[in-house]
Amino acid sequence: MAESAESVGLCFTCRWTRPATNRRGSTFFRCARAETDPRFVRYPPLPVRECPGYEELRPDRNPNGH
Ligand code: SF4
Repeated sequence: MAESAESVGLCFTCRWTRPATNRRGSTFFRCARAETDPRFVRYPPLPVRECPGYEELRPDRNPNGH
């Protein structure tokens, strides 16, 4: 199954998401906020419909540039 904004939810466009694809082609969306904030889980059940930590990733910005 291909991941989409519909199947992933908020994490799909969140600046905190860290997608990783395994050898079988499945993509996992790890939440980087979980590393520093216990309110978040590392692999949230998808789709995420509401999240207090969501911040939109702006495509016109370098995600590593902060
Ligand atoms: S902060 Fe929320 S929306 Fe963003 S990656 Fe983590 S769980 Fe997903």
